[in-house]
Amino acid sequence: MRFTVGAATDVGRQRSNNEDAYLADEDRSVFAVADGMGGHRAGDVAAAVALESVESRLTGDDTLVAAIQAANLAVYRKSTEDPALRGMGTTFTALRIVEAAAYVAHVGDSRAYLWRDGALARVTDDHSLVEELVREGRLTPEQAAEHPQRAIITRALGVEEELDVDTYEIALRAGDRILLCSDGLTTMVPDPEIETILRSEPDAQRAADALVTAANEAGGEDNITVVVIDVTDDGADRARAEEASVAVADLDAGEPTGEWEEGEHPPASEPAEAAETEREAPTTLGGALRPAPTPEPSAAATRGRARRVAVYAVPVLVVVLVVVGVLTWYARRSYFVGLDGEDVVLYQGVPGGFLIWDPTVEARSELTVDDIASENDEAEVRDGKGPSSRGEAERFIDQLETAQREAERREDERETRRQPTTTTTEPRPTLAGPRAPAAR
Ligand code: CA
Repeated sequence: MRFTVGAATDVGRQRSNNEDAYLADEDRSVFAVADGMGGHRAGDVAAAVALESVESRLTGDDTLVAAIQAANLAVYRKSTEDPALRGMGTTFTALRIVEAAAYVAHVGDSRAYLWRDGALARVTDDHSLVEELVREGRLTPEQAAEHPQRAIITRALGVEEELDVDTYEIALRAGDRILLCSDGLTTMVPDPEIETILRSEPDAQRAADALVTAANEAGGEDNITVVVIDVTDDGADRARAEEASVAVADLDAGEPTGEWEEGEHPPASEPAEAAETEREAPTTLGGALRPAPTPEPSAAATRGRARRVAVYAVPVLVVVLVVVGVLTWYARRSYFVGLDGEDVVLYQGVPGGFLIWDPTVEARSELTVDDIASENDEAEVRDGKGPSSRGEAERFIDQLETAQREAERREDERETRRQPTTTTTEPRPTLAGPRAPAAR
């Protein structure tokens, strides 16, 4: 199979840096999308290290899954060695084309899609909290799309020492188009619209650019990355391509049912046998991407998934909800005194904000920053004095007000002493602020 590739990555319209990255190595027929996560620049590092590690491994005999697991270890080690990178990780959705087959390996909530005969089908399952709830029937896809915790992923590369990688296999046909993308596309552009763009834009690079543009026009809330791989017929594969129908297997890495983890792909001498397997269970596009092509991997994969969901889903959900609850409580329980422009105000929250929770103004004082008598207090207020209880924060504002009144009173006394009685009709310069103390 020959293919042409288009790829694009964009910071989007709301973020300041792009933590997405992609790999499009046409010589090795390897493509991947990585959506990094972690504070400061750690997400960039995780995505970059993962992509470099996978690309460098695939020069040898490593399989895609083995390369991803090695990349997992590389990112994990880096994050444990450097405190600034602690906890970093990345999604990873990769595709390797070997002859007429595409092997997809996947972790996280980036996605692979297959567009065939004008219809779009998702290849990968998201490892995200909301998708797991959808699979369990506890959320509808519409609720998931709006869910506040939709960004929480349940599996990522680089977060733990061991990594379970989902794998899928697609028997390619000429005219197939494969899309790898980060969630910055799929949260902004619904699948039917992605399908329309892929149908209306035959050039791979233009299709990639059009998808990024659509995500930005829809708001561009996140970084957007897309890789579009167009499979073209080079003649030699035509006969086999016509025979082969799509065959997608969800083979859990490490389970003995996986046909290609060990050897990556069927040996070149056995293409007929591979095609035979595919013919035994021909599937249409619509139904092809869920059930596996042969009974054995299908049953095993289904059992594996049921076990995984049963074992992990409930504890994962409970842990996530508890963590979200604790974080919300932490972010919202405290108060501090800070500035809103020039005004001294009482904030609820943590100075500088905490994760997604920004502080909100709870009450305004009569003071501006110029009214703060002590330089020390002023510096503290500028940084956000707290976090503390509401009572403590209010007492601090009272202290500031008392100190300001005291400073004004002393200033008045000095003025009275300094100025001869003949000039008292002149307006007295206001030194401590626009408001007279009597006004309060
Ligand atoms: Ca993202």
